[in-house]
Amino acid sequence: MLIPFSSYQVIFYVWISIALFVFVLLLKIAAPYGRHSSAKWGPLIDNHYGWLLMELPALAVMIFFFFHNLTIDNLAVELMIGLFCLHYFNRTFIFPFRLRTRGKKMPLLIMFSGIFFNLSNTFLMGYYFTHFANYGTAWLTDFRFIAGLCLFFAGLWINWKSDNILIHLRKRTETDYKIPRGWLFSLISCPNLMGELMEWAGFAILCWNMPALAFFIWTAANLIPRAMAHHTWYKNKFEDYPPERKAIIPYLL
Ligand code: NDP
Repeated sequence: MLIPFSSYQVIFYVWISIALFVFVLLLKIAAPYGRHSSAKWGPLIDNHYGWLLMELPALAVMIFFFFHNLTIDNLAVELMIGLFCLHYFNRTFIFPFRLRTRGKKMPLLIMFSGIFFNLSNTFLMGYYFTHFANYGTAWLTDFRFIAGLCLFFAGLWINWKSDNILIHLRKRTETDYKIPRGWLFSLISCPNLMGELMEWAGFAILCWNMPALAFFIWTAANLIPRAMAHHTWYKNKFEDYPPERKAIIPYLL
């Protein structure tokens, strides 16, 4: 089924409106997984498999678009799809199995919300790449592409490095929490979330298209409230939590 560009634009605006609604909601209710997980949100699934099943649709849908619909030979689009898949390969197949969350669970509600988000977001992205994208080879030397690419990789590095530090705060058998110290943790509670935000800001700049912008808005709608909830949680849990630390943006928020 072909979607005309005008209808695609309507879907884009509806999708962004939902993100704004979710942002307001998440400022009031912390998404119940990780440290905020709770059985009051219904049936639970093992944390590792919850992450795997939640993130797998993004990779699967993008690979489907790549092999079934990408008829144009466009290096820029292939690189964009490659960056998207790089992130999701880690998030689906590596990240969940590095977590030291033995015995911890997440609500199925969270897993299904994640699946819905990933299916919708990746469909919008993949459809755009395979039906509307029109990048010439000159785009690869455009300032926006190069600056976005640098920001994407800086964000990816910060995200992976800080997730790694957090994961290694525990021994394999432990499940409790410690105060992370040093590096960007001296400035903010959640450099991993800041890194992810930078990644998708970079991606939106290097793609300069509607679905990548929508993905960035959705990421901000999810991660800014999550970082604020983590930050408040740290301050309540640890009396000696460094008072100068911010949540997600150094010196600001
Ligand atoms: P957290 O920082 O809460 O947790 C990351 C891992 O480190 C978890 O295993 C957690 O354990 C452990 N951990 C965190 N802090 C401590 C601590 N102080 N002491 C000991 N262990 C700790 O990350 P999130 O769950 O919020 O996010 C995980 C990843 O997913 C991030 O990279 C984030 O960017 C990404 N993400 C992306 C979203 C998007 O919209 N694009 C949305 C949400 C997340 P435990 O699970 O037991 O808390």
